Amino acid sequence: MSEQHVAAARRDVTDYELLFDCVHCGLCAEACPTYVATRREMDSPRGRIYLMKALAEGRIELDADAARHLDLCLGCRGCETACPSGVKYGRLIEGARVFVERDYRRGTFDKLRRAAVSAVFPYPSRLRALLMPLRIMDRLGLRNAVRVMLPSAARQWLDLLPRDGTNSAETRWPAPGAIAEDAPTVVVHHGCVAQVLADSENINSEGLLAAAGYHVLRMAVTECCGALDLHAGNRQRAREFARANVLALSKLNPDAIISAASGCSTTIAEYGEILEDDALAHEAEAIASKVKDLSSLLLQRPLQFPARFECVATYHDACHLAHGLGVREGPRALLRSIPGLKLVEMEQSDLCCGSAGSYNLTEPAMARELARRKGDNIVATGAQYVVLANPGCEFQIAAELQRRGSSMRVMHLADFLALAMTGGANQTQ
Ligand code: SF4
Ligand code: SF4
Repeated sequence: MSEQHVAAARRDVTDYELLFDCVHCGLCAEACPTYVATRREMDSPRGRIYLMKALAEGRIELDADAARHLDLCLGCRGCETACPSGVKYGRLIEGARVFVERDYRRGTFDKLRRAAVSAVFPYPSRLRALLMPLRIMDRLGLRNAVRVMLPSAARQWLDLLPRDGTNSAETRWPAPGAIAEDAPTVVVHHGCVAQVLADSENINSEGLLAAAGYHVLRMAVTECCGALDLHAGNRQRAREFARANVLALSKLNPDAIISAASGCSTTIAEYGEILEDDALAHEAEAIASKVKDLSSLLLQRPLQFPARFECVATYHDACHLAHGLGVREGPRALLRSIPGLKLVEMEQSDLCCGSAGSYNLTEPAMARELARRKGDNIVATGAQYVVLANPGCEFQIAAELQRRGSSMRVMHLADFLALAMTGGANQTQ
């Protein structure tokens, strides 16, 4: 096709110029969970980049096959870490998702499933209301009886929800001792799904930070960060959420911002880019620059663990923490600092577990396949605890281990450190 024809047929698929950064070397393939699972080129980063380019140049149509290969991408960004050419794959796939949502007609079931996720999950009050029957069911001990009557798709959704509609690793923190007036300030962004299903991770993050000598500031109301919408191709609403967060966080003006959900941290760290053409661009850039992770803050002001915690633990790298923020060593260093703890590494610790935001709700088959692989690697370590830093991974891996009848405990880093800080060794004996 001539250059003139290409220009005439050009479609607004993604950041077209960025597609040319890819030199098609294929070095990213083995870092891509969907390629590892299917061995199909079109389910590899390079294959998807070819696909986006062909769509952008009008050489192929956005049919069911093309949409399928793009939908199957987890957005985990394992390919970005592996790519020697610095391809901004995350940005490319986010653009392509907007294109798919705009121009592709999904089947009814798929459309309803995605609409349900989009209507409920970013809104904590809606999610709480939806979970009320589950809480009652769990209190009456009826979950297993109800579960067997459900179709398999609904069963998989149910398995992802913690018992009683929330995880229960919350610790009662004593009031922090006197904190120096000039100590740094930090906000823990409570997330949308996390504040409902995994609030212990927020409370324990705040407790640990206060114990380490930080002033913890709280947002009056925490709105979704926009990550779910970015993954779902709804960039417009993601920008609205981003604006609300930039305004709320700017008012508090903390020195650092963290989130217990690594996908949220990565999204907030990209607010400068997401709102680059907005009236709040300057404030968004300032907020983005303050994003840190729990481990880096706690390593700067080390905690004193009061007792030994004799146990074997392994660490799973949540995608957005490892590939988005480049944080790998900090959580491991913190775990190694717990007296008595032995840290063992699992194979492919940074290969996605299949959770990936709402991916395990919209693509349950591939999510399950990746959970199986992750489960095999975890079980092979013989550890008693799997520690990670993202609630989505926690639910996904816990469901997999439960299906296997494993007694291993899956815990968020904040919950695990809180356990170690408050005599965890005694509690678990
Ligand atoms: S984001 Fe993850 S699933 Fe998607 S192409 Fe990259 S490595 Fe593969
Ligand atoms: S994305 Fe990077 S690693 Fe993958 S084929 Fe392109 S240039 Fe190579």
